Amino acid sequence: MPKADVLVYNIGQVVLFPRKPLRRVSPEAAGIKESYAIAIRDGNVVEVGPSGIVKSKYECNVCINAEGRLVTPGLVDPHTHLIFAGSREDEFELKLMGYTYLEILKRGGGIYRTVRMTRNSSIEELIDKARKTLELVLSGGTTTVETKSGYGLLPEHEIKMLEAAKRASKDLPIKVVRTLLAHVIPEEYLDKRSDYIKLFDSIIVEVSKRKIAKYIDVFCDRGAFNVNESLHILRRGIEEGLRARMHADQLEYMGCSLLAEKVYLDSIDHLEKTPPKNARIFAVTGTVATFTPTSMVAMMEIEKPKLVGELKRLGVPIAVGSDYNPNNMTPLQQTTMDISTYILGLTPLEALAAATVNAAWNIREEGGQLIPRAPGDLIVWDMENYRWIGYTWGYDKTLAVISKGKVWKNLIS
Ligand SMILES: [Zn+2]
Repeated sequence: MPKADVLVYNIGQVVLFPRKPLRRVSPEAAGIKESYAIAIRDGNVVEVGPSGIVKSKYECNVCINAEGRLVTPGLVDPHTHLIFAGSREDEFELKLMGYTYLEILKRGGGIYRTVRMTRNSSIEELIDKARKTLELVLSGGTTTVETKSGYGLLPEHEIKMLEAAKRASKDLPIKVVRTLLAHVIPEEYLDKRSDYIKLFDSIIVEVSKRKIAKYIDVFCDRGAFNVNESLHILRRGIEEGLRARMHADQLEYMGCSLLAEKVYLDSIDHLEKTPPKNARIFAVTGTVATFTPTSMVAMMEIEKPKLVGELKRLGVPIAVGSDYNPNNMTPLQQTTMDISTYILGLTPLEALAAATVNAAWNIREEGGQLIPRAPGDLIVWDMENYRWIGYTWGYDKTLAVISKGKVWKNLIS
């Protein structure tokens, strides 16, 4: 009798998803099945099929009776900033008392405060904090996560952040994809921008040499990098062998998303201010459109992006990410998925695709589907079917989380 490390059976409803991203989400395209079982061995899915057949075929080490509940692939979070030091809860209160972003900056707050705290932290301190976050998100069903540099800004500190990201997941069953992010111009270079761009070139070279990042990313927006600077940074990253992605059109539309026509981008993230007509660029280039709905809440100016409807009409894959950062302390991709129904108007199944199969494609990683040879990443939810996604939210709805074939959490007795 073949052995399975983990066997989940008596699944009420499972959403399998195909290997490729979903451009138009429907129950048929998503591969929804009922009364199924899934066998996992050596970290990967080995068989998916009717519960009775699969259960009788395998001898299981861990056997989980899903008792008619919903099972989905593990969640993939394609956009986080989980390496940083300190917190800024006092600024949250100031914002609610009516202080503007500029006033908070003048009081020594905002991103440069996180930069100071991150520079003053040792790599071990950054690793400890990040590891706690990784354990938390795993418990909430995130099995693959992307994270970035961008709070060090100077070479040694950017490298320190990426090394911390590399070491934080040691012995944890979670995949961490690392990105070198050109976030903002450091305070000490504010009146010599071109010098910083040159310095950043040297960071790209060093990061590439050490092989500590898969992606180059740039924050192309008001107060960060302009279109030409962003183009330069992305091209230098690609020349050094990195794949490219971008933060764009979050605070203001300056034409940043048009860069997808000039360089190949796996994803453009944020897109709050992108004009709907730019949806055609995504359709032509194959770039994934990634939204970060909880960061829209944190910015306290929620307006449903007009781009979403046009992207759906053109069949562009949509992903969502948590954008977990000191200004948006929402680490769970589960929450991102749930509230994307309200803030972006995604249907429950579109939201699930955006947080699994499309998110995995966004970062060009395996995962986000439950088919033979896919990573053994799955969630047993305290829900009967996918329509409960978004319908209920605000608490952890996962009962069992299997990641890379390991049982991380199992509350089902
Ligand atoms: Zn971000």
